[in-house]
Amino acid sequence: MVNPKNTERSFIMVKPDAVQRGLVGKIIARFESRGYKLVAIKTMKATPEILRQHYSDLVDKPFFPAITEFMTSGPVVPMVWEGKDVVKNGRTMLGATDPSKSAPGTIRGDFGLDVGRNVCHGSDSVESAEHEIKLWFKEEELVNHPAFIYDLVYEN
Ligand code: UDP
Ligand code: MG
Repeated sequence: MVNPKNTERSFIMVKPDAVQRGLVGKIIARFESRGYKLVAIKTMKATPEILRQHYSDLVDKPFFPAITEFMTSGPVVPMVWEGKDVVKNGRTMLGATDPSKSAPGTIRGDFGLDVGRNVCHGSDSVESAEHEIKLWFKEEELVNHPAFIYDLVYEN
């Protein structure tokens, strides 16, 4: 039986820099090997409209035009990952917003150097995860399936 505590979901998105650099597999591998379950994944081009909603807290910042230009410069790979504390742990796995200040062993700390090329997005709260998942995925794109490794990852 799946414990509801272990069904938290986060929205994780590989940014265009990392897609072009061939880092998609490495980022997926980190979430997979931690024990998280992949619920949805796709490749797409982000539009300025979806980015305005996704980064609604940042639209008035001076760097917002640069974010939009960068995030629309190539494909992104949005994903939904599920499991215990995936929002908080996902942020820890990503590291600090500025990769040059991210600890080694984190995704940004291992793969990036500059804040405007910081490799990967991760939801900052359970509420924003729910909002972002609805924004980027249709309900039918989220696949509910039992993970066969469940009992190897969780005690109960
Ligand atoms: N960003 C930027 N310059 C800044 C701050 C943020 O280019 O001075 C970009 C960066 O790519 C970051 C994104 O805007 O990932 C969203 O900013 P936020 O503060 O939400 O950081 P995050 O949640 O991604 O760590
Ligand atoms: Mg953020």
